[in-house]
Amino acid sequence: MIKDTYFCRTCIIYCMDWRLSPGKADIEKALIKNNITEPVFDRIIIGGAGKNLAAENLSEEKKFLLAQIGIAVKFHGIEKLILINHTDCLAYGGSKKHSTTELEEAFHTDELELAANAVKMNFPKLSVEKYLAELKQKEQEWEVKLLRK
Ligand SMILES: [Zn+2]
Repeated sequence: MIKDTYFCRTCIIYCMDWRLSPGKADIEKALIKNNITEPVFDRIIIGGAGKNLAAENLSEEKKFLLAQIGIAVKFHGIEKLILINHTDCLAYGGSKKHSTTELEEAFHTDELELAANAVKMNFPKLSVEKYLAELKQKEQEWEVKLLRK
């Protein structure tokens, strides 16, 4: 039984990309504003977000990520994991790797599905929500739109 003091319902995984940080296309602010999560949550911030989880091989990075999720489950009793990949992610080679925005979106939809499956295999009780954060630059400012996948 986890004490209320330590309890937290949700863990969020997103990319280290500076464009998602406060003062830019603030991803955490967007999540709260869109009622995707309450303001209290665990966070795992790592280059490529779901990339290592989606990989077929059990790499050191994948083991590390699963262990981090395990910590959130064990010590904070999280019930939900929110996985967020973003467009133009350089861990994946950026938008230029895809000939259209539709193809980039479809690629990330598949990646998120693979990553979510890896999480569910290891933590069957966790509910997993997937989002693609669409980054756009408007007059030197970065904006983000969250697409549910
Ligand atoms: Zn990224």
